Amino acid sequence: MYESLVEEAKKARNMAYCPYSHFAVGAALLAKDGRIFTGCNIENASYGATICAERVALGKAISEGARAFVAIAIVSSAEENTPPCGICRQVLVEWMPEGDVVLWSKKAGIQVEPMAALLPGAFLRASMKEQTKEG
Ligand SMILES: [Zn+2]
Repeated sequence: MYESLVEEAKKARNMAYCPYSHFAVGAALLAKDGRIFTGCNIENASYGATICAERVALGKAISEGARAFVAIAIVSSAEENTPPCGICRQVLVEWMPEGDVVLWSKKAGIQVEPMAALLPGAFLRASMKEQTKEG
């Protein structure tokens, strides 16, 4: 079902800029309108400025007007599947709380995880409902 999305993530992985970790990651984000946005990790000499492939793909998508997503495929250079980091889980759940996270590696093959299962009890927009000072 997500084979072609995984292929796009593999292509994006080839663009990774990872001279420090040599850990290449590619992501492909499928929008509800059918468009696919890809991203790769972009490292920086100031390590904290590094951005993950998932957030690069999402940034491209949002800046191109996409607002609803079905799934994101993530492929790395590791032998095992690479799950999204905590920051990416938080960013992804904002945009695809009911979406699928699709992991792939040569060894493990395709693994589909519901976004909701990867970040239970997520902090969402609804979590910010106006509160009175009295609580
Ligand atoms: Zn991440």
